[in-house]
Amino acid sequence: MSDKPVYRPAPVLMPQSGRRIDKIPERMGGPSLTSESARARLVETLRGLGISQPSVLAVMARVPRHLFVDEAFASRAYEEAALPIGYKQTISRPFTVARYAEHALQGRSRLGRVLEVGAGCGYQAAVFSEFCAGIVSIERIEALYAKARANLLHAGYPQVQVLHGDGLLGYPPQAPFDVIIVAAAGLDVPEALLKQLKVGGRLIVPLETQGQQVLTLIDRVSENHWKRETRDLVKFVPLLQGVRDF
Ligand code: SAH
Repeated sequence: MSDKPVYRPAPVLMPQSGRRIDKIPERMGGPSLTSESARARLVETLRGLGISQPSVLAVMARVPRHLFVDEAFASRAYEEAALPIGYKQTISRPFTVARYAEHALQGRSRLGRVLEVGAGCGYQAAVFSEFCAGIVSIERIEALYAKARANLLHAGYPQVQVLHGDGLLGYPPQAPFDVIIVAAAGLDVPEALLKQLKVGGRLIVPLETQGQQVLTLIDRVSENHWKRETRDLVKFVPLLQGVRDF
């Protein structure tokens, strides 16, 4: 697989209104692998794995994951699997993205403002943008930041704000956030993120303990009190400090 960023021809396909494109052009892999029916099959798989919130399943049925993976993997876009996106990073499993959505929504149909740490190829940010008032996603690897931006524009999500930077610092200009999602595993809960969470808000972060990664939910219950709960075992790339300029 090439490590070069893939830029897609965004301007031609971008609707002036900034709304989603309904008819997504099929790419490599042919219609049966990248179409609505492939997404419908994925949704059935997710249901079987325990994803039950109808609004989450509906979003998973809508977002064109094949536009967020490199062409070489487009035919596998609707498999329930993580796939390489270059730079030793991966696009998360659809199940993980759907689980994050359920943990974030907690039965509600919409969210306020969301911060994502680790944009990767932009897919999870697209999913969250379908049910939140606004989302900003930070990526530390410059080439992936550029890829996420291009993918989001091409797939019809110009409203997602993507930034190149160190997500461990959060994003003070737009804090506090209703939900903060971290898409890479760390050893500790990043202090800045705790502080940039609204009272009543939730931080979702995979944390590594004793060689295992555990999805951790942290609710800010008051100004100085955070409640922590652990959930599913997960597998993420590492959360790293600083930025990479390539
Ligand atoms: N959200 C993605 C998954 C991305 S993979 C999806 O849609 O599937 C995790 C990403 O986190 C990688 O691209 C990695 O470069 C990034 N990352 C790791 N540490 C980071 C940090 N401190 N700040 C920002 N991004 C980080």
